[in-house]
Amino acid sequence: MIIIFGPPGAGKGTQARRLQKECNLKHISTGDILREEVRQKSELGQQVEKIMAAGELVPDALMDQIIRRRLASTNGAAGLILDGYPRNLDQAKYLDRATEGMEIHVVNIQVDEKEIFRRLSGRRYCPDCGKIYNIHFSPPDRPGVCDKCGSALIQRHDDQEEVIAERLRVYQEQTQPIADYYRSRGNYHVVDGNQTVSRVFARLSQVLEGFCQ
Ligand code: AMP
Repeated sequence: MIIIFGPPGAGKGTQARRLQKECNLKHISTGDILREEVRQKSELGQQVEKIMAAGELVPDALMDQIIRRRLASTNGAAGLILDGYPRNLDQAKYLDRATEGMEIHVVNIQVDEKEIFRRLSGRRYCPDCGKIYNIHFSPPDRPGVCDKCGSALIQRHDDQEEVIAERLRVYQEQTQPIADYYRSRGNYHVVDGNQTVSRVFARLSQVLEGFCQ
């Protein structure tokens, strides 16, 4: 199992999707799962909507349930890439129990704060096909319109500047300590995420050599 770890805006989702495609692994993004619940206005979605909009963490009890179900419905959790989970030490310990000592490889993608703000505040996405743009460095051909399907692009509520600051604060306080937890166990890699998507992917493929054949 691979955990793609790093601050918001590190490119975890982008890299995990690429790993899924090129290395035949399965990508699980807890943020995507929660956003879909919110979109469908499910009971869970209604419970978490305000928390997510404020950039806070969804309670562990709900996250544990989501992860438990996903692991149960997946053949061979060894080929999974987790993106956005675990987000605090209790979740990391829960994952250990749920995977019963399975080998976990962690890639920590590190990015400067200034770059994080540039990426997140510029991020737009297509609610229909999911394609992601950035108004600063990968804009659509026509402003605000998806190149692929013509739908109007939207900004994630939590990509607004004041929420980005809160997400970074939560990351430093609750998520960052997980790095020490995994570092001490080995199979822990740091990758410079300030580079282009392709360069980061090249480095990721190197450190995860055994997973991508
Ligand atoms: P992400 O797309 O990973 O940035 O996640 C978006 C939001 O979903 C976060 O800011 C949290 O509110 C919530 N979220 C995603 N994953 C978790 C998690 N493992 N634990 C708690 N909240 C989460």
